Amino acid sequence: MKYYVNEGCIGCGMCACTCPEVFSMSDDGVAVAIETEVPEEVFDSAAEAKDGCPVGAIEEA
Ligand code: SF4
Repeated sequence: MKYYVNEGCIGCGMCACTCPEVFSMSDDGVAVAIETEVPEEVFDSAAEAKDGCPVGAIEEA
């Protein structure tokens, strides 16, 4: 499974806090997801980050 961050991201930083293994903040001030498959051990926290995004900007790739 992979995730990506769509153009709706408002840069709140929550996903990077919840699951730093998958999400990080770019220099542009928006979140980016790792391009590789999400490691199994962080499936739950990555899903939590997705569900917690206030604008629904995280989608499954
Ligand atoms: S939680 Fe959503 S809005 Fe906030 S930084 Fe992550 S993708 Fe962007």
